Amino acid sequence: CEMGSEEMAQERFLVSVRLRPLNGKEIERNDSADWDSVNGTSVVFKPYLPERSLYPPSYTFDRVFGGECDTMQVYDEGAKEVALSVLDGINASIFAYGQTSSGKTYTMSGIIAYAVEDIYDYIRRHGEREYVLKFSAMEIYNEAVRDLLIADNIPLRLLDDPERGTVVEKLTEETLRDQWHLSDLLAICAAQRQVGETTLNEMSSRSHQILRLTIQSTAREFKSKQSSSTLVASVNFVDLAGSERASQVSSASNRLKEGCHINRSLLTLGTVIRKLSKERTGHIPFRDSKLTRILQPFLGGNARTAIICTMSPARSHIEQSRNTLLFASCAK
Ligand code: ADP
Ligand code: MG
Repeated sequence: CEMGSEEMAQERFLVSVRLRPLNGKEIERNDSADWDSVNGTSVVFKPYLPERSLYPPSYTFDRVFGGECDTMQVYDEGAKEVALSVLDGINASIFAYGQTSSGKTYTMSGIIAYAVEDIYDYIRRHGEREYVLKFSAMEIYNEAVRDLLIADNIPLRLLDDPERGTVVEKLTEETLRDQWHLSDLLAICAAQRQVGETTLNEMSSRSHQILRLTIQSTAREFKSKQSSSTLVASVNFVDLAGSERASQVSSASNRLKEGCHINRSLLTLGTVIRKLSKERTGHIPFRDSKLTRILQPFLGGNARTAIICTMSPARSHIEQSRNTLLFASCAK
């Protein structure tokens, strides 16, 4: 990826990499932690440093979090500002990208919890406005969209609304009573994600999950035209399918089809993000996948985007880690 209008891109795209610690399996097989963070903004491949420079020795992003960083720090520096822009009426999306077991769900579930805490805290301190919060959740599996708040498996259709852009037909939208109501709904989503599958990880490695919080606010007293205006915006928390699916080839035809679809969604997302962050002109292929169609209203225009790429530091995952760093570089 080439550098484009970097200043503009930096405003709207916040790109971070999070390295997790080696896991039990990796330690057991004496895998080495080859990737490390330096200065909080670079990922380095240690075996090639400092004397060998066949590969770029480091990749630089807005933020890089090492294995010692906790999710609160990742949230504070890699997602918070983007998530909370929803309170100013600005649409936002936060993505977790990376191979299966690199820490996407671990990272995203923590980020959601911190964001919800901050949003409710903000609302409590801004009694001059009245807030209505709504929540919806969906999963894209094999290019079929499913509602995660109800227990049936019926695929939902996408419609083009002249005002709102692409909408998911019949998607449940729950009006939240309070923070605890949201916790209950998040638990339902997690349970729904397991339906019909052997293990949670199997399912989550092949599907994209979008959790969406929509916030509407209106001033309680109309002091001026300005303050009486209603603000509406959504923040999307997107836990992507495992990125290894984008490169994996399988002989079983069903798996192959699945792989192709996931491949298409992730590839299209990469293209869309690259075009939005770098080129900023020309045709942006939102319509080439369900994922990008659904997210289109929350990606273009003045919307804010945070991308958190998760990776294992282990030598055995070098190919996948490179793939992840290339994806992250495309957004910068
Ligand atoms: P993914 O969603 O990418 O498949 P998970 O988020 O499920 O991966 O993480 C895989 C495992 O690694 C989980 O058991 C999770 O608790 C653990 N894990 C992931 N990231 C971290 C981290 N930064 N620190 C500690 N444990 C982690
Ligand atoms: Mg996961």
